[in-house]
Amino acid sequence: MDKYLVLGNPIDHSLSPSIHRMFAQQTKIEITYDKKLVAINQFDREIDSLVEKGFRGFNVTVPFKEDAFAKVNMANDCASAAQAVNTIKVTGDSDLYGFNTDGVGLIRDLVDRMGLTLSDSRILVIGAGGAAKGVVAALLGHGPDSIVIANRTMEKAKKLVTQFKEINQDAVIKCLELDKLDDGFDLIINSTSIGLAGEFNLVDDHVVKKKFCYDLAYGASARFASWARNVGALKVADGLGMLVEQAAESFFIWRGLRPETQQVLDTIRNQLIHSKSES
Ligand code: NAP
Repeated sequence: MDKYLVLGNPIDHSLSPSIHRMFAQQTKIEITYDKKLVAINQFDREIDSLVEKGFRGFNVTVPFKEDAFAKVNMANDCASAAQAVNTIKVTGDSDLYGFNTDGVGLIRDLVDRMGLTLSDSRILVIGAGGAAKGVVAALLGHGPDSIVIANRTMEKAKKLVTQFKEINQDAVIKCLELDKLDDGFDLIINSTSIGLAGEFNLVDDHVVKKKFCYDLAYGASARFASWARNVGALKVADGLGMLVEQAAESFFIWRGLRPETQQVLDTIRNQLIHSKSES
């Protein structure tokens, strides 16, 4: 039976094992899929040892996506543009092929599921970590009017903009300080992990009022979503749909079959609501 893992730190909260086990059941493919906490600075060594133990693929989450890009032998276009990998396929004995399915996952949720039009829209992405890189690469491919990156550490936002300008000097992307943002956006995406630790307090209310707000976080960590709803956003979504869609793309990369996602999303959302009402 082929073995898969999701690697991160923290990892307890990960829903990926539940999602992939549902995909496996639905497609009648026998696999194992578990989660593993990896110590900071140990990603490289851990991957080597897991590959040696026969694991055939990995999902990679906070904070190892850039480490994963550095580790793989080959990377597809999305992962190369993002310089971040969230899916690794072990090919042959030990070659590592890296992919980034975050962008595809977000687009399938935003455009296919929610019917949003991205062309000519003014998009604000808060955060400049591994997830931001993946989603910006995909958003740029959908003809937005502009993408602004705002991040606590301005240097990282600048680096991300430079990275995309190096691929295409006409890319409609720039960065701004968090406290310089106005109300001129159509879509605001939170890609920070602030919600894992505390309340969202990174931008003023006027930035999100009457706007479409999307939080990559989900469950109790979706603090941007709850804050935006409270201060008058037009529409708010958490990242659960993206999570299921990016997982489906990983499953397809590993197994060559595309699972049906809506039922899995409904089940996962019900489980989250249920566990919240019990705690
Ligand atoms: P990452 O590479 O560690 O980046 C974290 C980002 O959050 C950085 O921009 C960091 O800013 C910012 N940040 C963290 N704590 C902060 C704080 N207290 N105040 C202000 N900014 C803070 O993580 P990632 O891989 O990009 O993931 C980010 C989030 O997206 C996580 O919540 C993750 O679960 C979620 N995600 C969801 C999906 C999905 O499918 N729904 C997929 C991928 C990721 P600095 O640069 O200043 O440190």
